[in-house]
Amino acid sequence: MSIVNDAIPAVGPDPAEEAVTALLTALGVDLGEESLADTPRRVAAAYRELLEPHEFTATTFPNEDGCDELVLVRSIPFQSLCCHHLLPFFGVAHVGYVPGKRVLGLSKLARVVQASARGLQIQERITTRIADWLTEELDPLGAGAVVEAQHTCMSVRGVKAVGAWTTTSAVRGVLREDPHRREEFMRRTESGGGVGWR
Ligand SMILES: [Zn+2]
Repeated sequence: MSIVNDAIPAVGPDPAEEAVTALLTALGVDLGEESLADTPRRVAAAYRELLEPHEFTATTFPNEDGCDELVLVRSIPFQSLCCHHLLPFFGVAHVGYVPGKRVLGLSKLARVVQASARGLQIQERITTRIADWLTEELDPLGAGAVVEAQHTCMSVRGVKAVGAWTTTSAVRGVLREDPHRREEFMRRTESGGGVGWR
């Protein structure tokens, strides 16, 4: 009998919703106003969406044409949540690789960015994750990512640096070691601060 009981999901108040109510109340917000009545539920739902993992399967193909030049997708948009303030940051990633024996479906480069951005993040980790994922899944000659983002924890609070863009990069293989390949990658991913996003 206890197995049956354990299998039934508990029905009751949503702990996340209750926590939002407690947080807002502790901060002095009067949730009695009609327009705020449903706010805890909406906030809990919004954070659930932002924290939901993004799963996908990598589709790779044999490099039948022997492509050994840079394959680059620019301006892939992403949204994430800063792990220090729980505030959103967002921007674009430019992602490229020099194929080895396998090539990747181009849309999967966008999937890698979106999957890497999920969860509580810092921009540096997203950038590293993208480059490392490509390196591990494809075993390419080289891989790299440049990420440009605006952090609302920097623009709407604290230093209030509205319009500041943060750029991070991670390069692996020939894009790190070969000066010409590296220069080409950096030149082709350079947009001068979020230009690719606007
Ligand atoms: Zn932050």
